[in-house]
Amino acid sequence: MRMSCNGCRVLRKGCSENCSIRPCLRWIKNPESQANAIVFLVNFFGRAGLMNLINGRPDHLRPAIFRSLLYKACWRIVNPIYGSVMPLSYRSEPCSTWESDAGQATFK
Ligand SMILES: [Zn+2]
Repeated sequence: MRMSCNGCRVLRKGCSENCSIRPCLRWIKNPESQANAIVFLVNFFGRAGLMNLINGRPDHLRPAIFRSLLYKACWRIVNPIYGSVMPLSYRSEPCSTWESDAGQATFK
């Protein structure tokens, strides 16, 4: 009998050979960190929302989507307004059209 992945264990759902979460967590080496990543994303997107975002895409894209969601959620915590766009506002050079409004608001 195969053990549940840390994602399914935290979500208390059945894990199978075709688990969509397991491949998403492989890049995180520490089991506790894997569980924390899932809890963080579930708190952010909701359990159903997270599963829909992951399962709604082809298998080979799911790990990248998981990373992208984690990145987005982390930046949204750092800056609720700009979120993952915030690093772009660190650019020293003007950044095309949205730069004027977004940049000024960030550095007020
Ligand atoms: Zn699983």
